[in-house]
Amino acid sequence: MALRFASLGSGSKGNGTLVASGDHCLLVDCGFTIKETERRMARLGVSPAELSAILVTHEHSDHLSGVAPLARKYGLPVYLTPGTLRARDIGKLPRVHLIEGHQPFAVADIQVTPVAVPHDAREAAQFVFRSRGSSLGLLTDLGTVTPHVEEHFGDCDALVLEANHDPQMLAQGPYPPSLKRRVGGAYGHLSNQQAAGFLQRVGCDQLQHLVVAHISEKNNSIELARATLADAAERVANCIFACQQQGFDWLQIEKD
Ligand SMILES: [Zn+2]
Ligand SMILES: [Zn+2]
Repeated sequence: MALRFASLGSGSKGNGTLVASGDHCLLVDCGFTIKETERRMARLGVSPAELSAILVTHEHSDHLSGVAPLARKYGLPVYLTPGTLRARDIGKLPRVHLIEGHQPFAVADIQVTPVAVPHDAREAAQFVFRSRGSSLGLLTDLGTVTPHVEEHFGDCDALVLEANHDPQMLAQGPYPPSLKRRVGGAYGHLSNQQAAGFLQRVGCDQLQHLVVAHISEKNNSIELARATLADAAERVANCIFACQQQGFDWLQIEKD
């Protein structure tokens, strides 16, 4: 069985992505209460008791708030960088695996490559997953696409890619000036245009699935993201837009 993935929800009010191969299932980030996580996972046909581990990208609440409670309730190991572990009081974790120096590691038969990204967090890591010849990149919460990011995420079979804001909507929107600068800055979030530029540079003909994610509900719209990413979407076999409430349903990478 090749890699499968699904989302509990995507956006600044909470994130959680399931990555599965064979009988093994990982949860990347958890920005929901235990009850809400159980409810959203049930929608995708999985119970937290079936998880092999939780991986954490960084310490922002929309990715971290539910991690420790869920890990404690179900006795799950948590993988995170030392910087993320020490960035704030996470709460007691039953089993901690430190990601050291962004070295690749394996959970069951899933190979995980952590990739450093520029974001306003202590030691943020996004991930590329590989299993039985297929690869999936999760790439959200970064202000700039660096050459390092491009190198790691440029040839995935499936990609979950942030298109957080439309610069004009952000400029005219409700955020205070300091937050506007943060979100739009080099350590903030990718705009629709930055996401489109990345896809144009690396090419996306090899992509089976492109999921546009972490779309701001205040500073963006699916229509604007869709219009800016239209060229890329046309060249990808399947392009969908993740949302805060529903995330997205299971997608599978086909390998022959
Ligand atoms: Zn986030
Ligand atoms: Zn963040």
